[in-house]
Amino acid sequence: MQLNIIKTDGKARACLIETNRGPINTPAFMPVGTLGTVKAMSPDELKEIGAEIILSNTYHLYLRPGHEIISSLGGIHKFMNWDRPILTDSGGFQVFSLSALRKIEENGVHFKSHLDGSMHFLGPKEAMDIQSSLGSDIAMVLDDCTPYPSSYEYAMNSLYRTIQWAEQCKALQREGQALFGIVQGSLYEDLRRKSVEELVDIGFDGYAVGGLSVGEPKENMHRMIYFTASLIPADKPRYLMGIGDLRDVLAGVEAGFDMFDCVMPTRNARNGTLFTSEGRISIKREEFKTDRRPLDPDCDCYTCRNFSRGYLRHVFLSKEILSMRLNTIHNLYFYLNFFRDMRKFIMEGKFMEFKTKWAEIF
Ligand SMILES: [Zn+2]
Repeated sequence: MQLNIIKTDGKARACLIETNRGPINTPAFMPVGTLGTVKAMSPDELKEIGAEIILSNTYHLYLRPGHEIISSLGGIHKFMNWDRPILTDSGGFQVFSLSALRKIEENGVHFKSHLDGSMHFLGPKEAMDIQSSLGSDIAMVLDDCTPYPSSYEYAMNSLYRTIQWAEQCKALQREGQALFGIVQGSLYEDLRRKSVEELVDIGFDGYAVGGLSVGEPKENMHRMIYFTASLIPADKPRYLMGIGDLRDVLAGVEAGFDMFDCVMPTRNARNGTLFTSEGRISIKREEFKTDRRPLDPDCDCYTCRNFSRGYLRHVFLSKEILSMRLNTIHNLYFYLNFFRDMRKFIMEGKFMEFKTKWAEIF
């Protein structure tokens, strides 16, 4: 995996990440395909709207259908018929957020499946084995996702565990699979710094920042985004995990992050909340009943080219499957287009103009 910086504008940057399965132009948004499918979208539709990389989920695929099954069916790309890059997270975040019961030990974490209550163990070796049999292009180290709020002492212990696990994951890295380290440290600057230094010492193909957007106030999150980005080596991809609120994305890009993922556009689409050039709208509102205009007159997606707001409201209220499909096509197109535009503005040295415009809308 090779990162080429094409243009910088302040700290914001437009890069080209070259992988064996195709290019990733950054800043890049990765649609989330938790269970080996980006909900409501076929791979062809994802390509049509310009998705260059998607994210999938170790924890979920391990529990169902199981990584051995996916491996026996040819690996994750063949399994879901997606031939472009796939990033898999290590499962750490889900173990911490979904599992009702978990016990962290030195060498991993015991957890209870949220599906059937069965007990499982996930350590660095397991996380790497699973991601290796899935065959993703980018694997993530197993991390101990520090909750918010955490005391300094708790955050420090959790950070040292993450570093130890990162080292073990690195030793098990598979040829041909990139591996990203994950920066933790809660809201403590010296811990974040320590985290980056230790990870850079180990040496990864890219660096992700985790443990943000976990309930902390926005201004603290943004402060940490700016602080941490500047510590990560410029010649590696920087990935801000799980951040997708567009104002946070703008802060992330301004700070120098390259990669983003979030369920926000897809999940909101299914709930009828749609992103437009004039802000967020809820399609179920009465005012759209007889509205013949497209959802967003500035959008060129399939949904906006072919359907009225009145129709989108109708299929949403009727709980038609098509509603989820049309809304998801639009929201993902909107996000991917937002990122493409942002890249254009960076290329022209006008990122701040882009940021100011959109910060007023969202
Ligand atoms: Zn649209």
